Amino acid sequence: MGMLSNKIRINAHVQNHVTVSGRHADFYRKYASFVSKTLKKPLFQRFIHWILKREHIDKSLVQDIQVRVFPCQKKNGNSLAGRWRGDAGKILIFPRSFEFCRELAGQHGSEITRSYVKSRALATLIHEILHAKYSSDEERVRRLTERYFSIYTSNPKTIDFERVVFEKLFKK
Ligand SMILES: [Zn+2]
Repeated sequence: MGMLSNKIRINAHVQNHVTVSGRHADFYRKYASFVSKTLKKPLFQRFIHWILKREHIDKSLVQDIQVRVFPCQKKNGNSLAGRWRGDAGKILIFPRSFEFCRELAGQHGSEITRSYVKSRALATLIHEILHAKYSSDEERVRRLTERYFSIYTSNPKTIDFERVVFEKLFKK
């Protein structure tokens, strides 16, 4: 089975207007490597293939999946989770900020923070792949992402504190 995992790579390109101190750069490098490993896991890759089949999305539409090391801020100040570039078949996945993760860890502990980072990366990849089919139909892509993500996490092997993570991801 042709996996999408060989299209996943880490890219340390720095977005405009983002300054990252040395200490945080280390945090972001570890974050990116954790995300890249997470997305390449066979269980998740199989799940992505199941979605592609079910949605009739040709996997050759996705040429390049870049796990970006540094965050990307939207004009409204929120952080961008991902981006689909249809012209190039490219998916960009961005991290949460160091500050956000520190706050989450302070509130819920490092276990939930890791789980959040993992889940966010999975949900972002699902979301951006769905854009390959539904282009700018954001509502539909969001609904489907939430549905597929809950199918994935309903696997009892995944996470037992998924409710906290799910709330953080989808209920804002
Ligand atoms: Zn979207």
